[in-house]
Amino acid sequence: MARLSDPVTILKGIGPTKAKQFASLNIFTLEDLICHFPRGYEDRTKLVTIDKLEPDVPACFKAMVMNTPRTAHIRKGLDITKVQVADCTGRLTLTFFNRKFSAEQLQYGKEYIFYGAVTGDFIGYNMPSPSFESLDAPPINTRRVLPIYPLTAGLSNASVVKAVEQALAVCDPPQEIIPDAVREEYGILPAERAYFAIHQPASMEEAELAKRRLIFEEFFVFSAGLALMRAARSVKKTAPYENLELDPFLKALPFTLTGAQSRAIREIAEDLRRGSPMNRLVQGDVGSGKTMVAAAAAYFAICNGHQAAMMAPTEILAEQHYASLSKLLTPLGISVSLLTGSLTPKQKKLVREDIASGKTRLVVGTHALVSEATVFDDLGLVITDEQHRFGVGQRSALAGKGKDPHLLVMSATPIPRTLALLMYGDLEVSILDELPPGREPVDTFLVNESYRARINNFIRKQVGENHQCFVVCPAVEESDGLDLKAAETWAETLRQTVFPDLRVSLLHGQMKGAEKDAVMSDFAAGNADILVATTVIEVGVDVPNATLMVVEDADRFGLSQLHQLRGRVGRGKAKSYCILTSQTKHPETKQRLKALCQTTDGFKIAEEDLRLRGPGDFFGSRQSGLPVFRVANLSCDLQTLKAAQQASADWIDREGTAKTPEAEALRIRIGQLFARAENTMN
Ligand code: ADP
Ligand code: MG
Repeated sequence: MARLSDPVTILKGIGPTKAKQFASLNIFTLEDLICHFPRGYEDRTKLVTIDKLEPDVPACFKAMVMNTPRTAHIRKGLDITKVQVADCTGRLTLTFFNRKFSAEQLQYGKEYIFYGAVTGDFIGYNMPSPSFESLDAPPINTRRVLPIYPLTAGLSNASVVKAVEQALAVCDPPQEIIPDAVREEYGILPAERAYFAIHQPASMEEAELAKRRLIFEEFFVFSAGLALMRAARSVKKTAPYENLELDPFLKALPFTLTGAQSRAIREIAEDLRRGSPMNRLVQGDVGSGKTMVAAAAAYFAICNGHQAAMMAPTEILAEQHYASLSKLLTPLGISVSLLTGSLTPKQKKLVREDIASGKTRLVVGTHALVSEATVFDDLGLVITDEQHRFGVGQRSALAGKGKDPHLLVMSATPIPRTLALLMYGDLEVSILDELPPGREPVDTFLVNESYRARINNFIRKQVGENHQCFVVCPAVEESDGLDLKAAETWAETLRQTVFPDLRVSLLHGQMKGAEKDAVMSDFAAGNADILVATTVIEVGVDVPNATLMVVEDADRFGLSQLHQLRGRVGRGKAKSYCILTSQTKHPETKQRLKALCQTTDGFKIAEEDLRLRGPGDFFGSRQSGLPVFRVANLSCDLQTLKAAQQASADWIDREGTAKTPEAEALRIRIGQLFARAENTMN
């Protein structure tokens, strides 16, 4: 018996060359091989008769060889072997190209099972290159459900089939980790059967059952991991907050809170009163006012004698939060500071001294906060804004700077439910499902270049009414020189030829922090009419006086990204508009962009985006800190995810600390899965 950790080279037929091919599929051990699941199946179980063969539909049939195969040498490199076969319903000619050796094994008068598709017309059917097996040979290519594997250059499906079969024959598949009781309740196949059935199913139905089991297993491991983390946290103790008086804060606010904001703040207060660390997600569509909810939480922490830290994904956003929070909290006697990577070393040192001494009560910053050099006096609350930009790792690195601090995660809604369950499965959730009063939905239009003059007139009209406009050019990566030039040249064109009389400014990711800051605050203060920018303004930037968002080449952006961009307008009282320009001829792309014109529901848009682009792309990069699922598909397997989550929660409640071999194996698998997730993060 071999072990799962043995290299694939112990199998027959796998030498250095094959091993390299397998390695390029990330297959090194027998376990990797057994966990290399088919991407689909061909049902070759049913036998038909020759008269039932349909053109171009591959099928299995049993037939007798009616003559001796004859090979014709057509030219160098091309041999054609022909042979006649028949059953009681008809005759057929089989044609083999360059398979002289195997085709000539067919014996006159003997029966075989064939698999192939007929081509041809009234004159006569012909079947090119069928597979065949004799009746007494084991079914490999016929009379079975054939798994179709993801492959790589040089590696045939048949060699993967053979390798997997050998692996399953020489070692036991991965151990069972789903408890019996759970399996029975949810009708899940046992591990051993599932691993065999996914590779060698007796029927398509069995393949489906096996797949379901393996998806369930992935989700079960993942949610059990989250549940264990949650359980570990709930036994931790913190001093309950006693001072949860909010009046001074509310009085300092320039508006009254929405009902949803008040509810979220109440839920936070409940968490803080409880005496164990809070772990809460505040989810709300763009513009729903998450920042003030975070500010209230910070206010609680500070009034109870602790420090609070808020981490934002970009410098612009950190600076903006700093501006609005210090304006709000400084009059209440709270000292707020800003820590970003673009401060001078000397400035950073001073800010860090104030954080360490406890003089600073709230610090707003970028991931510079996570740096080792940042030490807190008494960090009681960690807030991360737009969390989906951070990995689980960064979140906990910042939390590590306090002693079991409370955690608050702010996220713009457009995270599909499946992903939210996965990424935030260990969090409690508050939802801001209400926009501040007086907001009208943003009208969105999709236009092509023929509308250029009208777009320009419209910009002029908005500016004429004392409003401001964003013009976003496609530049996804800050390091992408080409895209950067697009924004620069477009700003120049607008400045020189289109709007020489208006104030056009430029903002992009390659500008220095201080420069960006200056441009942004200048625009926010109303000192520019048009801001040409790259997607650096995508996240969270707030200028209520801006009423028009023009996105150039909108087809270059994902739907959720466009929704975020659109969220930059419609934040004040005035009616706002979003114009998407695109030259695309693809009907699908147009359809996608039109969907955005028809709805402002961030959830719907996010689901659509996930369906179209998959979870990896959804966040623009692989930074989500999500584990890599091998079988599960996040946009379709929601039902199974829910079942697995329920099952794992129940199980952890009942016997999360059990010492059974299953529980041990499950804990090991959880460790492996989360290690994989952290590895794919950066
Ligand atoms: P997001 O949820 O997208 O982070 P913000 O916190 O940036 O939203 O808030 C969007 C805008 O709405 C800001 O200008 C903010 O000052 C304003 N705002 C927040 N709450 C309210 C409220 N209750 N009433 C009026 N305006 C509000
Ligand atoms: Mg925000």
